[in-house]
Amino acid sequence: MEWLRYFTETASPLKNPEIIAWKEAGKRIIGTVCSNIPEEVLHAAGLLPVRLRAPGLHDTSNADSQLHRINCSYTRSILEELLRGDLEFLDGIITTNTCDHMLRLAGEIQDQAGVFVHYFSMYHTLGNAAAEWFVREMERLIARVEESFGVEVAERNLRQSIAVYNRTRELMAGINELRKKDPPAVSGAEYLRIVLSGMSGPKERFNDRIEALLPELRNRRAGEAGLPRLMIVGGACDCPEFIDFIERKGASIVADALCFGARHYLGTIKEDSASPLRAIADRYISRPACPSIIDGFEHSYRILRQFIQDWRVQGIICARLKFCDHWGGARKMLADELRKEGIPLLDLEREYAATGSGQINTRVQAFLEMLRG
Ligand code: SF4
Repeated sequence: MEWLRYFTETASPLKNPEIIAWKEAGKRIIGTVCSNIPEEVLHAAGLLPVRLRAPGLHDTSNADSQLHRINCSYTRSILEELLRGDLEFLDGIITTNTCDHMLRLAGEIQDQAGVFVHYFSMYHTLGNAAAEWFVREMERLIARVEESFGVEVAERNLRQSIAVYNRTRELMAGINELRKKDPPAVSGAEYLRIVLSGMSGPKERFNDRIEALLPELRNRRAGEAGLPRLMIVGGACDCPEFIDFIERKGASIVADALCFGARHYLGTIKEDSASPLRAIADRYISRPACPSIIDGFEHSYRILRQFIQDWRVQGIICARLKFCDHWGGARKMLADELRKEGIPLLDLEREYAATGSGQINTRVQAFLEMLRG
């Protein structure tokens, strides 16, 4: 499956052939640490936004000397990569305050990155005030990028970038639709590889690849029919091997609400809006909110409920990182709501690079047995 090999190669390692080619063409790359950072602005500046990940990194000993181990292993893994020099291909990094762990990471990156670093102050509520704040933060980012890289982020460029990103989201929605089938057209692990590939290279090339792939997938069947249909939620889960580990126990992961997943591609931006920045803000805020958004649970649960229904989800796995306070809290609210509706939930606490462990193995098996009845 040639297509899967391409997405697997671009999903890992982070410095993949697309990034190397972009760099060799003398173009610049900006690392981002959160799905809420508006990539369209960087794209409109002619920069390549790449979501920072640390595929396969298990040892964070250098980072642990600077970032307390009570910080989640995603943030410590990103710092570890930075300290090891594995992010030397970046021309800049956008940090943010999604949570206190991210804030700590932002401080370390500011001190140690040695390249352009911009702190993007994130919204933490929904509604008009949040959208206005998001627009102001985008304007601040544009001013910094224009000054530091000697580029102009003109309105026409923004509109072109919005169109490119909308195309990506429409195409990814097409793939997501094929996960409604039984069996789905792609496994959860394959879907995650496609998702990650889309965060790690030029969008235009990714769009071309997905456009060519969709007709091939229409008649494809990934795995067996009749397996328990699962949805996965939780924080920084970008590990296809972990998804594979669950699916190999006899399940189909047909939906997710991960920031390294379907959530990243949900919703398009109004292209004929008088204010492109406001239109971008409205799209980001309308997605299922990450738990860092104080009043976002009800809004998110409504969307999640629709996914459960439309993708015929039978059980949910909440895979949250150890010490992630946001998902620690959200998990409780989610459990209460799902219990009312009789939808089973398996809550798993994991480390960022964990692909499966004895305890997780036993619990996943028991959960699947319960679902099979
Ligand atoms: S996984 Fe949780 S603690 Fe870690 S960066 Fe994301 S929200 Fe913050």
